Amino acid sequence: MHELSIAMNLVQIAEEAARKAGASQVTVLYLRVGALSAIVPEALRFGFEIVTDGTMLAGARLEIEEVPVRIFCEHCAAEADLPNPQIFCCPTCQRPTGHMVQGRELELTSLEVT
Ligand SMILES: [Zn+2]
Repeated sequence: MHELSIAMNLVQIAEEAARKAGASQVTVLYLRVGALSAIVPEALRFGFEIVTDGTMLAGARLEIEEVPVRIFCEHCAAEADLPNPQIFCCPTCQRPTGHMVQGRELELTSLEVT
């Protein structure tokens, strides 16, 4: 389960950021997870609960924003979100496209600390 190692990474990053901010406890983590990031949010929540035990993140809430896959279509000269992340065709003109603008990210966007 690679979500466990991702969760451990998040703990490290968040603890470091909290220490720099002079905080003693992290209460909320905000994450952006792309539809093609290969992360299962439920597995990540589960792993997060396990690895935060006894850390500054114990009891912290994980706010996961799931980011759709967005492509750029040269034909339409526009960006569009894919309704199905497995099918790389422009939803407007149905032409295939390989230009992915977003969808693979795993970002810790912000933290709430006390
Ligand atoms: Zn198009």
